[in-house]
Amino acid sequence: MLAIASKRVRTFVLLPLLIAGVAGAAENVRTSTQPLTIKNVQNWTENGNIVPVCWESPGFDREKAIVKAAVRATWERNSGISFTGWGDCPRSGSDKFVRVATASQDDNNAGANGATFGYGMAVLKSASDGEGRLLAPRSMIMTFNPDGSADQGRVEYIGVHEFGHVLGFVHEQDTPGNAEGPAHCDSPGNEPNARSLTTYDRDSVMNYCNKDGNMLGNLTATDIEGVQAVYGVHTAKALGRVKLPPGTPAAAPVSICDAAKSARARNSPAAPGLERQCSAAGGH
Ligand SMILES: [Zn+2]
Repeated sequence: MLAIASKRVRTFVLLPLLIAGVAGAAENVRTSTQPLTIKNVQNWTENGNIVPVCWESPGFDREKAIVKAAVRATWERNSGISFTGWGDCPRSGSDKFVRVATASQDDNNAGANGATFGYGMAVLKSASDGEGRLLAPRSMIMTFNPDGSADQGRVEYIGVHEFGHVLGFVHEQDTPGNAEGPAHCDSPGNEPNARSLTTYDRDSVMNYCNKDGNMLGNLTATDIEGVQAVYGVHTAKALGRVKLPPGTPAAAPVSICDAAKSARARNSPAAPGLERQCSAAGGH
């Protein structure tokens, strides 16, 4: 099933990380590229590393929660990027968001798929962008099996991969490092107007032919190296942390191994990385 899912995935969607030097290409780079403007090359550093996100369509609460948790546990936790919002998209006005539409699909691809329309800040859309048009403006579409059976790992993968495009990253197999070519992973050729940030990464979440068969939303160490090269790391940024009154006793520190166990129990995408750190620290 994994192999079948993986193969099907390769026909539809899919990292050393490349960041798009130019944006505007649709998800399926095999068939669609668009004219580019200088605005389309902006990455999120020009927005203070803030990526405002909203959901264009109602429903799919389970899958939306999985996507948000996976994106926060990967790109956000491991870089200076912050994804904000995650509420319903405004129906009017000019405030811009990464507007994520959702729609139903069957059980192909383990019940989940996605596509992103462009790279970097060029994907931002406002409600007013859709005036006079039949379809609401959208930056991305995710499709899920409406019966709630979409595989959790697959949904995490879709979230992490598609938001990788939002951060500017292109398909890893379409980079000069893919010297193996079709022997490892078929590619229409090198992505134009992009620059490599790392060495080629066969297992990147942005590589259609990663070892997880596009069924897990994990970042590799190279993915993390790449995203940090552009967006840095969090510097003591308070992610939901409250300031305690003076004199409050410090909480007992959580060991890396306890953190790993907790992550595993929650089936968090962060679990493998924490487990590796635990092992490296001599734990288990
Ligand atoms: Zn993709």
